[in-house]
Amino acid sequence: MRRSVSWHDNGMSIVTNTVAHPFVISGPSGVGKGTVVKPLMERAKGCWLSVSATTRPPRPGEIDGVHYHFVTDKQFDDLVRSGQMLEWAVVHGKHRYGTPRRPVMDALKRGLIPVLELDLAGARQIRASMPSAVQIFLAPPSWEELEHRLRGRGTETEEQIQRRLETARTELAAESEFDYVVVNDEVARATAQILHIMGIDK
Ligand code: ADP
Ligand code: 5GP
Repeated sequence: MRRSVSWHDNGMSIVTNTVAHPFVISGPSGVGKGTVVKPLMERAKGCWLSVSATTRPPRPGEIDGVHYHFVTDKQFDDLVRSGQMLEWAVVHGKHRYGTPRRPVMDALKRGLIPVLELDLAGARQIRASMPSAVQIFLAPPSWEELEHRLRGRGTETEEQIQRRLETARTELAAESEFDYVVVNDEVARATAQILHIMGIDK
């Protein structure tokens, strides 16, 4: 059944004649968000993955415009000041990450389901501005496994790992704020569970 959904966007109320609403996927660094989102997007037809802007430098292999829009501090300032960010946050006390507003709105207007991979602060902002968004928390099977995955990825220095683990404690303490908690014990199972939540598991 199609129904009308409205939400608040930058002071304006947007109404679309569709059931599409964003899905937020959050969870601590290293839990496997990127790993799970990849097969999810391959299987979830009708979904559209938001590409965030960030001031962090690219990791080897990351492509500008594909994994992130890599921007300078000045460019990020301008995006925020001109109201082009749907949400944004300083993540791990260092770099800024944010969701460009326009592509999300365009996807919704086209009836696509935007999937946003966000930190806790970003998820909270979306909860306030888009209450119809479905919020999923991806949790690790254990603290030891989270640490193991973060180290195993080999993309951060020890100092960065410690910072991310510190953030992870706050994030894990907030999992009850989310509509669903999915444990990423096994990628295929976690992906299937998220597809089921999205109602596209057939
Ligand atoms: P995030 O995007 O949440 O920071 P990644 O997707 O980069 O996390 O995953 C972190 C590391 O954990 C990667 O090396 C990835 O291969 C591994 N990983 C992800 N999911 C699982 C899983 N279910 N079991 C084992 N290892 C996993
Ligand atoms: P990474 O540096 O590992 O790519 O990302 C660090 C964290 O930033 C991720 O755990 C992710 O949740 C968060 N993040 C990525 N994009 C955004 C965004 O657009 N907004 C917010 N608030 N957080 C983001």
